[in-house]
Amino acid sequence: MTTPLSIPARPPRGRLAPSPTGALHLGNARSFLLAWLSIRSRNGTLLLRMEDLDHPKVKPVAARQALDDLRWLGLDWDEGPDIGGPHAPYTQTERVELYRETLERLRSEGRVYPCVCSRRDVENAQSAPQNGEDGQRYGNACRDRFPNYETAAAALPPGRLPAWRFRVEPGVRVFRDGFRGVQTRDVAAEDGDFTLARHPDGAGYMLAVVTDDHAMGVTEVLRGDDLLPATHRQLALYETLGWTPPEFIHVPLAVAEDGRRLAKRHGDTRISALREKGMAPEDVIGLLAWWCGWADWGKSIAPVELLSRFDLLSLEPRPAVIDRRVREWLAL
Ligand code: GLU
Repeated sequence: MTTPLSIPARPPRGRLAPSPTGALHLGNARSFLLAWLSIRSRNGTLLLRMEDLDHPKVKPVAARQALDDLRWLGLDWDEGPDIGGPHAPYTQTERVELYRETLERLRSEGRVYPCVCSRRDVENAQSAPQNGEDGQRYGNACRDRFPNYETAAAALPPGRLPAWRFRVEPGVRVFRDGFRGVQTRDVAAEDGDFTLARHPDGAGYMLAVVTDDHAMGVTEVLRGDDLLPATHRQLALYETLGWTPPEFIHVPLAVAEDGRRLAKRHGDTRISALREKGMAPEDVIGLLAWWCGWADWGKSIAPVELLSRFDLLSLEPRPAVIDRRVREWLAL
C-alpha cells in the first residue's frame, strides 16, 4: 500500500475590490462580509484593491468613504492602498503599466485586434459588466478587418483611438462555482469578442481584474452574482494567458421587494447613511447575518462572532430582500 502524499493546503488569499463609483450600500456590504468571513474563517490573507479605473462614475471621495465604511463595519484587510503590502500599489489607476504588459502579450500572440466601433459600445464594455455589456452580443464586426492598429486608427476621425478586443474561441465554457455549482456559457455565441482596453493605455475591467488577481496571487474571488456571466470571459483570459484561475464563488445580491437591484428609490441603504442615523455597526452586521440565515432577527453581532457560523452550504440561496420589515427597522 502506498501512503498518499499530503500536500499542505495553501492558505487562501481573497480580496475586497470596491469600485468608488458610489457609496457602499447594504448589498455590497453583504458580499464584502461574506468575502471577509470566507477568508478569515480559514486563516487566509485578505487584500483590498481599489478598482478606480477611468469610468464616468468614479468619485475620488468615494474611495476614502469605502475604506471608512468597511472599517466601521468591523472588516479589515492585511494589504491595501492605505496600509501597503507586497503587491503594492493596490489602486488600479496606479497599476496601468501591468495592464499594458498583459495587453502587449496578447497582442504579440495575435489574441486581440483593434476595433473602431462606436465609443459608446466600447465604453459600455469598460466598466464591470453588470453596468451594461451583458445581453448585447458584439457581432465581431472589426475581427480581421484591419491589418494593424495604425490602419484602424487611420479609419477614425482625429482624436479617436481604436479599442483592443479579445478574440474569443468558440465553444461552451464550464466551471464549478463555489456556491452556485456547475456553470456553463458559450462566450463566443452569447457575448462575442469583448473589449479589453478603450485604447492602448485605457485598460478596462476585464483586463485589469484578471491581471491583478493573478499578479496579487488571489486564490478565491467571492463576489455578488451579478458578475457570474463575466466569470466565463475572465476564465477565457486566464486560459489564454496560461494563468491558474482563482476559485470563484458568487453569492446572491440584496434586492428591493420588486426583485430589482437596489436603487435610490428604494430608500437610502448606504452604509454611511445608516451610520449617520446612529445605527451601530453590529446592528447592520446582525441584519446581514439574518439575511444569510445565521442569526435571529434583530440581533447585534460583530463580524468576528460570525466566523464560526460561516458556512456556504447553509447560506440562504435566495437574494436578500429589503422588504417592509427591513425598511421599517432601518427607518428607510
Ligand atoms: N469592482 C467590481 C465592482 O465593484 C468588482 C469586481 C470583482 O469583484 O471582480 O463591481
